[in-house]
Amino acid sequence: MNEKILYIEDNGVNRRLVRRILEREGYVVIEAADGLSGVQAALTEHPDLILMDINLPGLDGYEAATRLKSEPALADTPIVALTANVTPGDRERSLVSGCDGYIPKPIDPANFVLQVRAFLRGERESIDESLANYYLREYRDKLVNRLQAKIEELTRLNAELEQRVEERTRELEETQARLVRVEKEQAIIELAGAVAHELRQPQTVIAGLVGLILSDNYDQSQLQHDLQTIVEQVKEMSQLIDAMTELASYETKTYPGDIRIVDLEKSAQQSDQPRHNGIAP
Ligand code: MN
Repeated sequence: MNEKILYIEDNGVNRRLVRRILEREGYVVIEAADGLSGVQAALTEHPDLILMDINLPGLDGYEAATRLKSEPALADTPIVALTANVTPGDRERSLVSGCDGYIPKPIDPANFVLQVRAFLRGERESIDESLANYYLREYRDKLVNRLQAKIEELTRLNAELEQRVEERTRELEETQARLVRVEKEQAIIELAGAVAHELRQPQTVIAGLVGLILSDNYDQSQLQHDLQTIVEQVKEMSQLIDAMTELASYETKTYPGDIRIVDLEKSAQQSDQPRHNGIAP
């Protein structure tokens, strides 16, 4: 079975180049473009060898190597740093972080193939113990500083998020208060409409009859009957006024033309006898 190589590298051009070189040699190449997805790919794919770029977004190559070395399933999988970090100490930094080898970029294709094959056969680079202690301390300090910076960043982001949630909640409360205000205004308009509508009819009857009674040619024989009608209409108006003072809930009815008015009958508290204003619509 062909050996499987995982290449963790954020640069697409580098990935394609290395893939071509290795595939020509018969290796299966899988790729990851950042530290976290590289760790994930290593855990799921169980490659025979991992090529690790160091300057990576998210977890860098050192951190990804340290993470992978803590996995028992990957304990024997060689991790080889493949990096443009070629200043003094970069090889040691790679080895103390958990890498088993170090190949500086740019690579020489022929030599690169030989180096990969050697690591697959079991070659491991070693580091002097006192040198390792020095770089381990440096690595530990770097990790703690990075952890602190990340925690500070998260704390700040969390505070910002909390503030945004607070602002949003306040906006919602203001909007709600505005809606309630608008509804109250609407209720007053609707109530006024209902009162006007219900009072206009008895008022029209009364005004009409009074006008007749005061006219020169009024038929006096009708007086008793007309006064009785006026008394009834006044009673209707009194009942409406009672209904308004008893107004407990708020119900509306829709009139043609989509006019909504308060339904005084429904809105008034239930009284013992049903109200009939007796006015023809
Ligand atoms: Mn890189």
